[in-house]
Amino acid sequence: MNSRRNFLQKLTGSLVALPLLSKQDYLKSFEDLNDEPYDGPLLRVAIMGLGSYGTRVAEAMKDCTKAKLVGVISGTPSKITAWQAKYNLAEKNCYNYENYDNIKNNPDIDVVYIITPNALHKDAAIRVARAGKHVICEKPMSINAKDGEEMIAACKKANVKLLVGYRMHFEAKTLEIIRMRKDGEFGRILFFQGLSGFRIGDPKQWRLNKELAGGGAMMDIGIYSINGARYMTGEEPIWVTAQETKTDKEKFKEGVDETIQFQLGFPGGAVASCLSTYSMNNLDRFFLNGEKGFAEMQPSTGYGPIKGKTHKGELTHPHVTHQTVQMDEMAGIILEGQQPIVPVDGEEGLKDLKIMDAIYEAIKRGKKVNLSL
Ligand code: NAD
Repeated sequence: MNSRRNFLQKLTGSLVALPLLSKQDYLKSFEDLNDEPYDGPLLRVAIMGLGSYGTRVAEAMKDCTKAKLVGVISGTPSKITAWQAKYNLAEKNCYNYENYDNIKNNPDIDVVYIITPNALHKDAAIRVARAGKHVICEKPMSINAKDGEEMIAACKKANVKLLVGYRMHFEAKTLEIIRMRKDGEFGRILFFQGLSGFRIGDPKQWRLNKELAGGGAMMDIGIYSINGARYMTGEEPIWVTAQETKTDKEKFKEGVDETIQFQLGFPGGAVASCLSTYSMNNLDRFFLNGEKGFAEMQPSTGYGPIKGKTHKGELTHPHVTHQTVQMDEMAGIILEGQQPIVPVDGEEGLKDLKIMDAIYEAIKRGKKVNLSL
């Protein structure tokens, strides 16, 4: 019944050398573990926002066992037509931004996956919840903690689930390091370093527009170091310090951060030192250091394959398309009440938003900001 989950656990629980798996091999491995093909419930998904990441998720879902793309919400009629043809979507499952509240009358859609610019997540999530559908929302869940709290409240009131697209929470090498840390293999955790960044291009894109992005690199890519610091150390930070540098005030306008360095302090004494930037490439690295050992990942949060090693050697878990695993696992969470190893719910998203708020606050005040998550 839960063979998909068992497969993930087998992947994460073993250091046996396995080659990179093709999608076919992955599915075959899954079938091998499962004597019978999957005949359980399917999570029927509508994607809102048919941009670059929405397209990546749709493509990855072709290989899902428990989740299926059945509809879309888009403001561009030509995209809807193209997606209908490509993914064989029923006309009645396709909506625009004016009429998607009608999704409440559609019994063939279980969940809406919101993949629009950051500042639009909140209102969309609240409308979807009011329509009685579960919500999966891309990161950052919203652009500040207050909005995140409103989203959580709306989903609670509507009795629907709210999940955040934290694909790394299902990634095999990441989960192996978390297992090792939980089993004490690194000893007491002393230090985490997270480097997250890339050199951003087109100055006119929404990611550099405060109204749509809510901020700059921190909202988009720095959040991986915030989130990573938490799942790698296994603790919630109790203080934040942060410093901002800006080399191009024309490209990175007021409220759009270019580069931020930040530090997090954890109750067990560990410290995290992180960099979030839109100005440098080749920055995708995590390093965790404990009294008895270390883990290193580079790349640590890209689309993969993720590379990682620890004091015990290289991690050789096979690469599987992150979004395929994520959507199958989220189907288990929504339909069967399964609990992921690292949470992906609204509360988890809210913690990152609270830390992000504190980082901006620490920059503004030039002081350490205390946190209670
Ligand atoms: P994108 O620009 O490629 O796509 C955004 C989509 O939103 C477009 O289809 C656009 O038409 C639509 N949209 C709807 N209303 C809009 C408006 N008012 N202004 C602009 N566009 C509007 O962006 P993307 O890279 O797909 O990012 C979308 C979301 O996904 C962001 O929140 C981002 O942080 C997240 N994302 C997550 C990952 C991940 O690995 N989890 C990766 C990339 C992006």
